Amino acid sequence: MSIDLAEVAKERKIKYFLISYTDLLGTQRAKLVPAEAIRVMARNGAGFAGFATWLDMTPADPDILAIPDPDSLIQLPWKPEVGWLAADPWMAGKPVEQAPRNVLKRLIATAADRGFQLKSGVECEFFLISPDGENIGDISDRQTKPCYDQSALMRRYEVISEICDGMLQLGWNPYQNDHEDANGQFEMNWDYSDALVTADRHAFFKYMVKSIAEKHQLRATFMPKPFSGLTGNGCHVHVSLWKDNRNLFEDEKGELGISSIGYAFIGGIIHSADALAAILNPTVNSYKRINAPRTLSGATWSPNTVTFSGNNRTHMIRIPEAGRFELRLADGAANPYAMQAAILAAGLDGIQSNRNPGKRLDINMYTDGHLVQDVKKLPLNLLDALRALEGSKLLSESLGEYVPAYLKLKHEEWNDFSRHLTRWERETTLDC
Ligand SMILES: [Mg+2]
Repeated sequence: MSIDLAEVAKERKIKYFLISYTDLLGTQRAKLVPAEAIRVMARNGAGFAGFATWLDMTPADPDILAIPDPDSLIQLPWKPEVGWLAADPWMAGKPVEQAPRNVLKRLIATAADRGFQLKSGVECEFFLISPDGENIGDISDRQTKPCYDQSALMRRYEVISEICDGMLQLGWNPYQNDHEDANGQFEMNWDYSDALVTADRHAFFKYMVKSIAEKHQLRATFMPKPFSGLTGNGCHVHVSLWKDNRNLFEDEKGELGISSIGYAFIGGIIHSADALAAILNPTVNSYKRINAPRTLSGATWSPNTVTFSGNNRTHMIRIPEAGRFELRLADGAANPYAMQAAILAAGLDGIQSNRNPGKRLDINMYTDGHLVQDVKKLPLNLLDALRALEGSKLLSESLGEYVPAYLKLKHEEWNDFSRHLTRWERETTLDC
């Protein structure tokens, strides 16, 4: 039975709903709708001029209607009179094909046709910085090896505990919070779930962290590499595939407890890694996190080669324990929906084509990577990644209209970036 949001509003004392969708560049767009109007909006959708957001539309296109998904309702922990709803953009009676949440739902349906269900968890690293964005928010946070720094963590207790209390209230089962490897950087972990639930929570988490940071006169950023010399913001994804409540990746007889279907999925990710980077590392700045030189702390924590390993953090894919793997490629700028869709598309292809992931490597890739021959490297910049995506028949077919729309927007972004004359260019070329 469908959920009556007007009734829910009465029960939970919700005065307003935020009907929210995430566009292709990851920006969340919303209308604030009084509870009195929610019944009509839930049926017909909230109207938006699609071209005014990153959906690759023109002013000649009709309005889009964002139809809220009642199952996604999240009451803002810091303002409980507002309920957030993830919405699916529709236009002219059909779902907007390139809208990221629609893309993910399509991929989930494709997987379901084969009896598969993707479950995932995300580790969204972020910095707490000054409101002007120039510096980290805590001038005392200066250790060269600041990971798990107890004092720096506790100086931000008010912010971190407020976010964690919110997740507890929402039933996400958060289980740990820490200071990460860069000064000013934090990570908060909650339970994995179905891919769509995780994607909605990921989108909402970013909004919640930014909102609560602002309440505390700080600013939160998920930018992949906000400070050169410090570790960047990753968004590691833990992946498993299920069928009838059984984890298909688990096999106690398999190498490291991973089944052959699990290795085929990993093979799919490895096969499409350079094209995946265009979606999982979506900004010019992303490529300053992967392929980065050593940071102050001694490690970048991000991959630069398309390799997999056991419990070893220097490779793109880590198998920390039986039944799942961790993809360490994505960063804080990755679109929560497109990221899961692309991972699922590549993994399903791996299973379908029984792709071989190659040999597991157990070396320290940061120090001994040069000793291995024939290892694929990740793209060095956004343009290389976009070209790889252009060349990926698989992702073009499985992600549909999303790919040309995304490529168009991203090539515009690359061109815009390329027109900027940098200080580095002047310093290195002025005396040529
Ligand atoms: Mg981390």
